[in-house]
Amino acid sequence: MNMITNHLPTAELQALDAAHHMHPFSNQKELADRGARVITRASGVTLTDSEGNEILDAMAGLWCVNIGYGRDELADVAARQMRELPYYNTFFMTTHAPVIALSAKLAELAPGDLNHVFYAGSGSEANDTNIRMVRHYWSAKGKPEKKIIISRQNAYHGSTLGGASLGGMIPMHQQGGLPIPDVHHIPQPNWWAEGGDMSPEEFGLARAQELEKAIEELGEDRVAAFIAEPIQGAGGVIVPPETYFPEIQRICDKYDILLIADEVICGFGRTGNWFGSQTVGWKPHIMTIAKGLSSGYAPIGGSIVCDEVAEVVGATEFNHGYTYSGHPVAAAVALENLRILEEENIIGHVRDVAAPYLKKKWESLTDHPLVGEAKIVGMMGSIALTPNKEARAPFAADAGTVGLICRENCFANNLVMRHVGDRMIISPPLVMQPDEIDTLIERATRALDQTYERIKSEGLYK
Ligand SMILES: *Cc1c(COP(=O)(O)O)cnc(C)c1O
Repeated sequence: MNMITNHLPTAELQALDAAHHMHPFSNQKELADRGARVITRASGVTLTDSEGNEILDAMAGLWCVNIGYGRDELADVAARQMRELPYYNTFFMTTHAPVIALSAKLAELAPGDLNHVFYAGSGSEANDTNIRMVRHYWSAKGKPEKKIIISRQNAYHGSTLGGASLGGMIPMHQQGGLPIPDVHHIPQPNWWAEGGDMSPEEFGLARAQELEKAIEELGEDRVAAFIAEPIQGAGGVIVPPETYFPEIQRICDKYDILLIADEVICGFGRTGNWFGSQTVGWKPHIMTIAKGLSSGYAPIGGSIVCDEVAEVVGATEFNHGYTYSGHPVAAAVALENLRILEEENIIGHVRDVAAPYLKKKWESLTDHPLVGEAKIVGMMGSIALTPNKEARAPFAADAGTVGLICRENCFANNLVMRHVGDRMIISPPLVMQPDEIDTLIERATRALDQTYERIKSEGLYK
């Protein structure tokens, strides 16, 4: 067997990849026909591929590389930890310094009495933990019938059976017999697509009140928890109207249910605060964390849990855990990532420099004939593509056709920007500087221009 490295020709790597590697969320046949793009290295906010292209990564990998690529400190910490203690479990009354230090740090950073951390290898696993934890909590309190978890349509909470069930992605439910029982979905606060004639403010209130309706209909005595992303990420960076979360909080205060903020994207600075729930003004009992926790340098996720829930759940044995819960190398890497975020005041950079600059530029994209609304909070943003801004109309093509064309044009202009349907989304590294933001906007504008020309010529612009 030859050594398979970046020195092989791209076509050879692509052929081997297509033959043996099954890609997530991909059409494998299409991928085999076209060949996957081979990423060879990355530094700062820039990726390099096997053809030598330098690509601006406006998605921070998959919403995770918050401190940017190429930070030697994290590599050094990982190497040191692997030599000292590469692995030990935390199951049978054992622990180790990296997981202790990370837990204490997270308790310090998380608001209020969110003082306890249960670890997982990813955000999906952490949400599986949450399902079992909130149900076990109510059961331990003598209310085993409180089992239903209310979530939202078009939410993303991961891809395990539990995570995808909590999520509101129909194409995911259609494969594998989801959702699992006792998960209920209410409509999302997506004004652009679903707001009709209402003002955004009215619509935000109405969509929040769907939660109250659901609790009333299902019965408070059967509802265990409500889960939401402060800002929906994979659903298309849907920024809720300002009326939404205050009303959600009012309803949550009124009923005896637990609140889970899925902070997997919003956590660790993305919205300009440590956590997205702080930005939207919402007080959860449990936070799901992953992605930015380690800036993607090591796989780690978890649930930050409030005193009361931790106490009830901790009073008996919780029959749950993962081999890699609190993995020492991942914990050490995460801790170093948090040190960098804090000591380099990266969240301050987001709040005072990067986000205000990006917001101005991003919102100016609405001058483009294709762009209806531009939404942005901190370093996560979206634009809605439309042939008719007034009517917020869809294109005369399947949803996502134009978005996909635009994404391809972005790639051709050395910019990673994703599409969700006909929304284009960004979530760049938090360390992005104004000159890099200029490049992002230049390339995005060029891609939009090319998309506009193409769909006009193909008769899709109507
Ligand atoms: C990515 C994501 C998850 C799932 O995390 P994985 O690490 O991919 O399992 C869960 N919730 C949200 C909000 C996410 O964006």
